[in-house]
Amino acid sequence: MKILVTGGAGFIGSHIVDAYIEQGHEVVIIDDFSSGSESNLNPKAKVFRCGIQDDRVRDIFAGNQFDIMNHHAAQMDVRKSVADPVFDAGTNVLGTLNLLQNCVEYKVKKVIFSSTGGAVYGEQETFPADESHPTWPLSPYGITKLTCEKYLFYYHQVFGLPYIAFRYANVYGPRQNPHGEAGVVAIFIEKLMRGEKAIINGDGLQTRDYVFVADLVRANLKALEHEACDVINLGTGKETDVNTIFRYLNELTGANVEENHGEAKLGEQLRSCLSIKRAGAVLDWQPEIELSAGLARTVQYFKEEESE
Ligand code: NAD
Repeated sequence: MKILVTGGAGFIGSHIVDAYIEQGHEVVIIDDFSSGSESNLNPKAKVFRCGIQDDRVRDIFAGNQFDIMNHHAAQMDVRKSVADPVFDAGTNVLGTLNLLQNCVEYKVKKVIFSSTGGAVYGEQETFPADESHPTWPLSPYGITKLTCEKYLFYYHQVFGLPYIAFRYANVYGPRQNPHGEAGVVAIFIEKLMRGEKAIINGDGLQTRDYVFVADLVRANLKALEHEACDVINLGTGKETDVNTIFRYLNELTGANVEENHGEAKLGEQLRSCLSIKRAGAVLDWQPEIELSAGLARTVQYFKEEESE
């Protein structure tokens, strides 16, 4: 198949590109490299350095008959979305609409979309949250991702464009960018390896559902064959607090420093955890990498990067 992967130079997208190419698919990437990196690029992929909201997207669709669009390009930083909701919506909503219009015009057969289970539900009422949990996002980022899900439904109903939207939990693993505000695992690893202070926000008891990137990649492979239109959580169904993440990484990096707590971040979600029953039932998907093993693999990656 010929597959467009938007955001294919980024953390999650680049792993998906590698897996699709490994399976023999032809992959084209659209990425503006705002947070993605050349070093993540698979040499067998064709790359267009272009914004998803750009008019040039049309020429790219016209020149390539894509079977599938796997859409991972986004402004994905919750705090940035709060600071600049107009920019967030410009990329995440208008950029996505630009892509979807082209998918319809150029008869793409399916869209795979990266939504967020960490942000669309808002402060959860039940744990773990399944896909029918109320959606009251507490950030512009969560709102734009939910809006895209609604547009996917609309494009399917009105234009017959099939889709699958994955609501990812907190993803971690090799290639995660440690320099942004998002991605506590990568941020802690880098700080601990450099002997810098890794600050835990507030009491560190806020929980997330941490899923290893390779597990998501398997779901994105299964999505190629999946027939029905679906919204599906992908996580582990387990809650882990930030203190626990810090303690694992403190040991795995060999830093063995004191725990440092800073101010709690205003408005930060307290708990998040996703039910993954639906992913098991409709995709036959389960996460396979335990947290301790995934963190060890991630630390190993950062150590190798540093020694290169
Ligand atoms: P990332 O920042 O590494 O990847 C995003 C990629 O999109 C980057 O390569 C970036 O350069 C590119 N990009 C950004 N804006 C663009 C634009 N306007 N035009 C073209 N390319 C653009 O982030 P990631 O963690 O790999 O996230 C990938 C997707 O998964 C995002 O849509 C994100 O919202 C979603 N997601 C991530 C997580 C997580 O925990 N990392 C959780 C839920 C959902």
